[in-house]
This record gives sequence, C-alpha cells and structure tokens, in this order.
Amino acid sequence: MSAPNIETIVSLAKRRGFVFPSSEIYGGLGSAWDYGPLGVELCNNVKRAWWRWMVYERDDMEGLDSSIILNRSVWKYSGHEETFSDPLVDCRECNSRLRADKLDYAGAAESGDIAALIRDKQVKCPSCGSTNLTEPRPFNLMFRTQLGAASAEDDPNALAYLRPETAQGIFINFHLVQQTMRRKVPFGIAQIGKSFRNEVTPGNFIFRTREFEQMEMEYFVRPGEDETAHQEWIDNCFNWYTSLGLSRDNLRLYEQPKEELAHYAKRTVDIHYRFFPERAEAEKHWDELMGIANRTDFDLRAHSKNPVDAEGKRVNPDSTEDLSYFDEARKERYYPYVIEPAAGVNRSVLAFLMDAYSERTNDKGETRVILKLHPELAPIKVAVLPLAKNKPEIVGMAKAIKRSLQPVMRAVYDDTGGIGKLYARQDETGTPFCVTIDHQSLEDEAVTVRDRDTWEQERVKVADLQQHLRQRLEVRG
Ligand code: ATP
Repeated sequence: MSAPNIETIVSLAKRRGFVFPSSEIYGGLGSAWDYGPLGVELCNNVKRAWWRWMVYERDDMEGLDSSIILNRSVWKYSGHEETFSDPLVDCRECNSRLRADKLDYAGAAESGDIAALIRDKQVKCPSCGSTNLTEPRPFNLMFRTQLGAASAEDDPNALAYLRPETAQGIFINFHLVQQTMRRKVPFGIAQIGKSFRNEVTPGNFIFRTREFEQMEMEYFVRPGEDETAHQEWIDNCFNWYTSLGLSRDNLRLYEQPKEELAHYAKRTVDIHYRFFPERAEAEKHWDELMGIANRTDFDLRAHSKNPVDAEGKRVNPDSTEDLSYFDEARKERYYPYVIEPAAGVNRSVLAFLMDAYSERTNDKGETRVILKLHPELAPIKVAVLPLAKNKPEIVGMAKAIKRSLQPVMRAVYDDTGGIGKLYARQDETGTPFCVTIDHQSLEDEAVTVRDRDTWEQERVKVADLQQHLRQRLEVRG
C-alpha cells in the first residue's frame, strides 16, 4: 500500500512535525514549506544516503559545494538568460497566470501549435473556464537580485541570479577539481544544494516549490562513450530508489520525446513516480521524480574561451579558461561529454513518504497509520519508552538506555502517554523500533524491542541492545 493522494501526506506531515506551511502566522506564503524536527532528519538522511551511494561507494567521484550566486556570465553562456523560461499566458477574465504548456489541449498539443490553439479559443482557463487567454510569452524563471549596497534597482552591472540548478557550479569548476584531485576521465562531480526557480504555477505540496534542493552529479566521459554511460546511470538511479524502498509499481522510466528535450540534451530519460494515484486518467498519475540527461559537451564548450564560430570569432569572449581535457593515454584533446543524473531532495522526500504510507487495523478495530520508511531514512531509529512514568527506577533506566544509544543512532525518550499511544505515534513517524522498559527490566536487565512493521515483540538483554538494534537497522558507518 502507499498513500492514496498527496493530501494524506500533507496532513500527516503537519501533524507529526515533518513539514509545516511556511510563514503560517502571517497567512502563509504560497508554495513555501518549512521542514520540522522530523522533516529535517528525513531530508538529511536522504541526502546522506545519496552522498554515500554516489560519492563514497564509488572510485570515480568527487564532491563539491559551489556558490549559489555566481558570476552573471555563467548564466549567459549556459543559455539560461535566454532560454530558461516557461511559456506564460494570462486569463483576461479572472487574471490567472498560467503555464501554457500545462493547459489541457485534449491531446492536440503534441501535433498543434500552442499559440494557434489558444488564439482559436480551443483552450479553457482551468480556474474560470474562459477562452479569453493572451498569447503565450516567455517568462524567465531565474530569481534576480542586485549585488552590493550601492547598486540601483536596475543597474545591469549589479544584476545577479540565484542559481536555478546546481550543475553550472560543477562545470565552471571542472578543471580545478580534475587537476587538484588528479582525476582522469571518466569521473564525476557530485553536489547537493539549494536551487531557485520562480515557477509560474508552484504547488502540490513540496512537489514544486520556488526554493528547493537538488542532488546533482555530472559524469564526464570521452565522446563516443557517452551512450553506454548514460544507460548505466539510468539503471543505477532507478535501482537506488528501489534499494531505499520505493516500490517498482510506483516507478517508471519516461523517455523524453525530441520536442521536449532541453537545448543541450542529446537524450533524457526521466524517472517518474506515481505522485497522483487519485487522478482518473492513468497517464496523469505520473510525474517526474528525477531526470538523467546526456548534456553532450555543450556546457564545457560554452564556458570555454577557445571555440570559434563560422567566422572565426570567439563564441565566449568572457571566459579566461579552456575546459577541454587532454587524455594522456590516447594523446588526444577533447571536451568531455556529460551525463547528468539530477534529482530533487524534496520530491524524493515526498515519494519516500507516499510510498512508506500504510494502514493497519489493531485488535480493537482501530485503524493505525504506519510509515514503513527504510531504516536508513527513518528520522528516529529507536524510541525508548518507560511503561510506568511514575516509577523513578524505570524512568531512570529508560533515560540511561536512551543516552547509551544516542551516540550511535538517533534515539528519543517519550513518556507523554500510555504505551498504546506512544507506539502509535512512533509507527506514524516511521521509527523502526520501540524499546520498552517495564518492572521486570529492573530484575532481569532485559527490555522489550517492538518491531514497527510486524508489531512483534522480543526480549533483549540491555547489554546486547545496541548490537541487536544496529544489526537489525543495518546502520552503516
Ligand atoms: P519539471 O519539469 O517538473 O519542472 P525539470 O525537468 O525542470 O522539472 P530538472 O531541471 O530536470 O527539472 O531538475 C531536476 C530535478 O530537480 C527534478 O527532477 C525535480 O526532482 C527537482 N526540481 C526541479 N524543479 C523543482 C521545483 N520547482 N520544486 C521542487 N523540485 C524541483
């Protein structure tokens, strides 16, 4: 089982301290969300799992943390200033602003010209039903800002952008990473960090927001070896999600058709997740979780000083570097091709939450929510619960056990309710194990370990507890 819709997760996330609507005391801010105590743990665990898998468990990877605000030229030569836009239309009746490519063309858009369909009044505003829409015009998604205290609002010399992707920070550091770490192609550079897009229509909870986090990796290969490497990364990424518990039934690969490809891409395959299972039309259940693109040598060439156009003029007169690579073994120089797996932290968190959601009925006929998160992702690994909170010896023993576990795993102590309620709370937040201390524990130095998924209980000696939990959690160093 998984969540029947995103709304179920929105209310669970708020109730249990995962995700709160941002700025709520001032009426909120459309599409902004704050990650609460459990949400920040879940995000960190997703990022840690990705980093370990992507960087530590391979021999050909380096990490990077580049600046969010980069020299404006980066966005000029990457093509973002010119092309990083969505087609925008306004509804003249209700003033809604809409993304033209997301309107309902009843299947006509694949063959037809969007502007013509809108002009011929074949498309309706989803808010009010009017066909009185403006022509689509490009709306650049990059957030603008000014650098420095003295700059005037519209001073072009002070103009800067918040990065809309982490990738460009990797390309401009390609040589520095390669040389300082003495790397030979093929190798990759991974980065996790915030990105910003002034989305026309954000929404669906944390699926699409204006501020979000990305986990991106640029894998540099010799031209000609790009297609095989691309396919390998598609398979690797799909397997990463299933290894952390996402069900295969809720994942699919989507080959982007030619007309959808970004200007730099030779081929892009997206991993889709079933984010919208409640929708009537099966095809609309799916949306992008991550994309794996073959970006060719577009970016390294675009940021290099050497390439010239047909008239022999430098294409990039602002760059001071040439980002080509000299292959010592083959004695050849080339611009490496780049394979880019690009995932969203927040969309991954949403998929993990939806997939982990399940319900179970207890002996009393009450329905309980169990969040069956992979142990590596679970915000809390173990909750230590005293059976009698008015018995100082039991409380003291429980607190001591919690303290002994906390250096090696995230542990909490809770005595704010009856045991049934405490178990239910931990099940709902995805804690794999509860450890209960009762009267007998004082005698036999043993505790009860309860499993989240099976509700089975086992008696374990306190001396063996840490080892026992570590083994079952497979918490890796
Ligand atoms: P979409 O088509 O959904 O706008 P995209 O194809 O523009 O996404 P990419 O540029 O490929 O997205 O970014 C890589 C990943 O970053 C996406 O697969 C997604 O997980 C995440 N991402 C992109 N935009 C957003 C956003 N506005 N909010 C949350 N995550 C995002």
